Amino acid sequence: MSTVHAWAAPSATEPLVPVTIERRAVGATDVLIAIRYAGICHSDIHTVRGDWGPVTYPQVVGHEIVGEVVEVGPDVTKYAVGDRVGVGCMVNSCRECDNCRAGMENYCLKGNTQTYNAVDRDGTITQGGYSTHVVVDQDFVLRVPESISYEAAAPLLCAGITTYSPLAHWKAAPGKRVAVVGMGGLGHMAVKIAHAMGAEVTVLSQSLSKQDDGFRFGADNYAATSDPETFEKLANHFDIIVNTVSAPIDVQRYLGLLRLDGALVNVGAPPEPLPVQVFSLFRNRLTFAGSSIGSIAETQEMLDFCAEHGIAPEVELIGAEQINDAYERVLSSDVRYRFVIDTATIGAA
Ligand SMILES: [Zn+2]
Ligand SMILES: [Zn+2]
Repeated sequence: MSTVHAWAAPSATEPLVPVTIERRAVGATDVLIAIRYAGICHSDIHTVRGDWGPVTYPQVVGHEIVGEVVEVGPDVTKYAVGDRVGVGCMVNSCRECDNCRAGMENYCLKGNTQTYNAVDRDGTITQGGYSTHVVVDQDFVLRVPESISYEAAAPLLCAGITTYSPLAHWKAAPGKRVAVVGMGGLGHMAVKIAHAMGAEVTVLSQSLSKQDDGFRFGADNYAATSDPETFEKLANHFDIIVNTVSAPIDVQRYLGLLRLDGALVNVGAPPEPLPVQVFSLFRNRLTFAGSSIGSIAETQEMLDFCAEHGIAPEVELIGAEQINDAYERVLSSDVRYRFVIDTATIGAA
């Protein structure tokens, strides 16, 4: 075991504070990573505030982790000291179920082991990336390509893969029309990735306030969902709609935008059910779907794709002492487009 610095939530209602936590000893197939940057995901905030269920406090969140390998266990074959690596939303899975054996450990039937607030295989509670070091099994570590900076790589590990996976699965490509609902941390990555895949990309945002950014990220069109005309003009237009919004939407209106065999894929999740009128799925043989992060292999594919196409998220670097302010700004959608913590400031306080 080793004691490392971190920033943790002491409870659902208190701000995050500097703490020390224990990391397990480096096991046979583990790597010890010195964390350089950690992204702030909206999920971090939902988790520490207890929105998504019970939390073991103090809790260190963060599942967009990048850094370098500083120690490897004796049976590690995939990584060596000095490698540039990342860790995303999961750090283990059962490895035996049908989905794990199919290489889809993100859909582990026993539930993958989340990077924070989950019971790890040794019975301890996982603690995430707002920290100086983390110990992770080599099978759940990603290689960060040389051409992607550490700070840009961080948001790819959640926001990047969460949007890449459905775009790849539903085959965004030249000739396909993709709509991205919401242009926050996830949405802006979806625009960049869908554009790089060759699809025609439209942003559907509440207002036109981020329109210039949308075009800069590669969108071909940008429409306001507050304007009822948008839903008339774009009726029967899209093959894929990626919904990144975690507030309820009027599903029927969005299904009306899909053409034959179109899919509305949810990657943001409102806590309440979204009612779907089944008749609106019959029209145009539509799919109403969800998608959860991506497998480790697909996450590596996404990182390599982003390196090849020069895709990087828009980040705002902060120090650890700014985490609590950053949370408020995420909640008020005042971030363009992802906060990333420079972990050199963790433990400095
Ligand atoms: Zn996330
Ligand atoms: Zn499994």
